[in-house]
Amino acid sequence: MPNRTPSKEPKRILILGGTAEAAALAHRLARDTPDTIVTTSLAGRLSVPPDLPGIVRVGGFGGLGGLIDFLRLARINRVIDATHPFAATISAHAALACAELEIPLEHIDRGMWRKQPGDRWHWADDMAMAARIATRFRRVFLTVGSVELAPFARKGGPFYLVRVIEEPRHPLGFRHYVLVLGRGPLVLAEEMTLLKNFAIDLLVSKASGGPATEAKIEAARKLKIPVLLVKRPPPPIV
Ligand code: NAP
Repeated sequence: MPNRTPSKEPKRILILGGTAEAAALAHRLARDTPDTIVTTSLAGRLSVPPDLPGIVRVGGFGGLGGLIDFLRLARINRVIDATHPFAATISAHAALACAELEIPLEHIDRGMWRKQPGDRWHWADDMAMAARIATRFRRVFLTVGSVELAPFARKGGPFYLVRVIEEPRHPLGFRHYVLVLGRGPLVLAEEMTLLKNFAIDLLVSKASGGPATEAKIEAARKLKIPVLLVKRPPPPIV
């Protein structure tokens, strides 16, 4: 039997959150490891933060230095990066801060959707490229999130059906558009109705993966509508 002295130091985990995976993890840890002190950090992109167990902090840390200071002050001894696959800056900061402080870092990798027969997928390297490609279509369903809309609005051109999670605080700048509010988990029948009612001829999405928003991809497959996927940013190199 290994002779290990039990550490008196309590486990203090920081979950970098803002995703369904992070919320599920916070609930699981609260249920299964009640002695662990769990803090979830949210960027604060939504006006009402989700109801999570444990400690919840909201807003940026103030860059890499701020995150290092936070980890030290809160005496965090494990970090779980459960952020969105496109949240590249905070993931890079987490990797650098944990390397600096020698704190174990775990990354929850969200699997990409699997291409299936009938899928008509096209790829864009970034939002600017996706916005250029979108101008070749007439009626575009834009599901890239509220912070990525500017390149599409600037280009003008097609009619856009724009879906965001909550009412935008500023005018979006599109010439022809309809705004719909919605968030995962998406429902296949509702996604098909939207695509049909608005006679959509292109769906634009980040290559986010995950089950919560897969219904839009499935709906496009069933209706033979092309999907333009914006590639994920590369993972951080430390
Ligand atoms: P980002 O580019 O990785 O982060 C930008 C800054 O936001 C970070 O440097 C950090 O500020 C703060 N931040 C991000 N996540 C944080 C967290 N969990 N806790 C505390 N601070 C956090 O990410 P983003 O600007 O939020 O979004 C980039 C892309 O990811 C967008 O396409 C967005 O739609 C998508 N996305 C992000 C989230 C999210 O929760 N972040 C959720 C869904 C989708 P400081 O440098 O000041 O620490």
